[in-house]
Amino acid sequence: MKCPYCNKEMELGIIQSAREIAWKEGLERTKGRAAAYEGSVVLSGLDFFAGSAVKASNCRECKKIIISYSSSPDLNK
Ligand SMILES: [Zn+2]
Repeated sequence: MKCPYCNKEMELGIIQSAREIAWKEGLERTKGRAAAYEGSVVLSGLDFFAGSAVKASNCRECKKIIISYSSSPDLNK
């Protein structure tokens, strides 16, 4: 994937956590699962044994990371 800011090739990797990874609207930190917040986007549900992970492309030049949540959460696809 090319970086939309500088057009250089991005590095594919993962963002991982011991907890659910989700986007929630606004800048206020909240507790609890994303499902409790309307409009939230779960990027990776929690797997109690493996944690959670989502594919992400990194541009070290621009210091930007892009996550596509339309793709399968299965990291092997
Ligand atoms: Zn870039």
